[in-house]
Amino acid sequence: MYDENNIFAKIIRKEIPCETIYEDNKVLFFKDINPQAKIHVLGIPKEKVINLREFIDIDDKNTLVYFFKKVHEVIKTLGLEKQGYRLITNDGLNANQEVPHFHVHILGGQNLGGLK
Ligand code: 5GP
Repeated sequence: MYDENNIFAKIIRKEIPCETIYEDNKVLFFKDINPQAKIHVLGIPKEKVINLREFIDIDDKNTLVYFFKKVHEVIKTLGLEKQGYRLITNDGLNANQEVPHFHVHILGGQNLGGLK
């Protein structure tokens, strides 16, 4: 069950500040507080979903298209398209998912090494 008090829910509600890269009524992109690369941005839909499976099960599929189009727009805005980037989502125990609100990590600005 979705935890209304997870950190990203609080960020969406503006109870916790963040460094916003892009926001509208459906999505929010902001800098990771503990960056793992020169550029490390998190992207979240504002729907109350924990992971990719819950997100893709949403009835209105336009929500999915909208989110991933925005991911790509932000990648372009960050200037990452030419040199490349890595897009990650962590789900569950083996991935050590820390925050139970579906999100993607956008990493770039440097060579990211071999870890996939
Ligand atoms: P996960 O392991 O769930 O995929 O990653 C969660 C990410 O959220 C981590 O990279 C962590 O640094 C980031 N994070 C956790 N708390 C905060 C916060 O309060 N603000 C921001 N901007 N990022 C956070």
